[in-house]
Amino acid sequence: MGNKKTIMMIAGVAALFFGNLSAAQADELKPYQNTYCNVQTFIGPDSQKVAMALPLAHTNNIPVIIVGKSALNLPHTGYIMAHECCHHSLKHTSKLPNMHTRESLAQIEQEADQCAANLLQARGEYKAIQAAVIQARHDGQFARAEKITQSLEASSPSGYGFE
Ligand SMILES: [Zn+2]
Repeated sequence: MGNKKTIMMIAGVAALFFGNLSAAQADELKPYQNTYCNVQTFIGPDSQKVAMALPLAHTNNIPVIIVGKSALNLPHTGYIMAHECCHHSLKHTSKLPNMHTRESLAQIEQEADQCAANLLQARGEYKAIQAAVIQARHDGQFARAEKITQSLEASSPSGYGFE
């Protein structure tokens, strides 16, 4: 299975875990200061709507994070960064070529969501989590919004729910 086909398959399933770049676009990537992990992060082209975590041929197949300009300076930008960092820390980027089923892709997205919520919670960045929940609901991803909320409640004795 070719890498390109893998990426296209992912695009239909997971909003934050997709993308492909032309050589010209890759050449124009600008470094971005990602404060959530040490993974090399770049600002992608305008057409890159959100963010992705994947090995790029242009970076010698070292996994990187690429975030679209339109995903910067949003209320949930911190969540997007934490989520992509979690794909790396959870080693999802090396699992990707073996991902064949919708279930397994949904699984890694859920793992990254839970990891991101925990990471942001540890930093006290509740507003970023809340913004991500609101965004997920806005996008019609109600189950995802609920799971992010649940992962917070599960890890906090006092509970921290969102309305
Ligand atoms: Zn993701």
